Amino acid sequence: MLLIGSHVSFGKDQLKGCVEQSLSYGANTFMFYTGAPQNTIRSAVNTDINGEALKLMDGKISIENVVCHAPYIINLANNKDVSKYEFAIDFLKKEIKRCHELGVKRLVLHPGSSVGINIDDALKNITYALNIALEDDEDVIVALETMAGKGSEVGSNMQELKTIIDGVEKTELIGVCLDTCHLNDSGVDISRFDEYLDEFDRVIGIDKIQVVHINDSKNPIGSRKDRHELIGIGTIGFDNLIDVIYNERLEHVPKILETPYIGNSDDDKERIYPPYKFEIASIKAKKFDGNLRANIRDFYRQ
Ligand code: FE
Ligand code: FE
Ligand code: ZN
Repeated sequence: MLLIGSHVSFGKDQLKGCVEQSLSYGANTFMFYTGAPQNTIRSAVNTDINGEALKLMDGKISIENVVCHAPYIINLANNKDVSKYEFAIDFLKKEIKRCHELGVKRLVLHPGSSVGINIDDALKNITYALNIALEDDEDVIVALETMAGKGSEVGSNMQELKTIIDGVEKTELIGVCLDTCHLNDSGVDISRFDEYLDEFDRVIGIDKIQVVHINDSKNPIGSRKDRHELIGIGTIGFDNLIDVIYNERLEHVPKILETPYIGNSDDDKERIYPPYKFEIASIKAKKFDGNLRANIRDFYRQ
């Protein structure tokens, strides 16, 4: 069965709000941040709301397939500022606890940015941090995201991810999240995705893949930019993304859209309409929607 969903927002209704948004998009999985992705202010998990969310999910979305994403400002790669590094480790530990309380089993994490230290030390810092964060947990898998290689991002090639994974003691709690835009921007040709999977299987093991982020890219292969585009409108293209989404080897892995909201017109800076309902429909039909933007606007404007 195809597992397809999108990024949704976790507001005051917490997981219940996420489920409502996802069902309105025709999704059977979703991904959320426990607060704003760019800060670390977090509120406690509301167990009453969570019970309601689980009821609402019944038969439509399995909690096993739901994904949480850690805020992207926590950086485990650099320890120059010790208090910042310790804060990041502690935050990750708490984030894992929040996932556990919510019943969520998969947590996506950006490995970090080395900013001025050498890559070997950066990899060691990440591994050390993960070993502390995973210490007292039993069931939340941290999935390291494949990165575009913007700035000094760690994790834009398989070897770096392998080094981190090899250093993590609790092997069963570490995995990978593939991101199609990031792979493209880091130099992987998505039109030859099966060859990438073969290599991934040799180097890391295909069973480590916990999540796939489905995004088109605004930039060419190897640009190291990381700017997501709507499905079928970017440089990867609809057919190549469909081949990733329907790849038999990843059938059981949740596919999550992180494509950008659109504005009232093409040059509108304010992005207000989520594209997910329409992208999911075209993915299910395996048919590119040539009027994607117009159809989204028409639907949400009324
Ligand atoms: Fe990410
Ligand atoms: Fe991503
Ligand atoms: Zn990205």
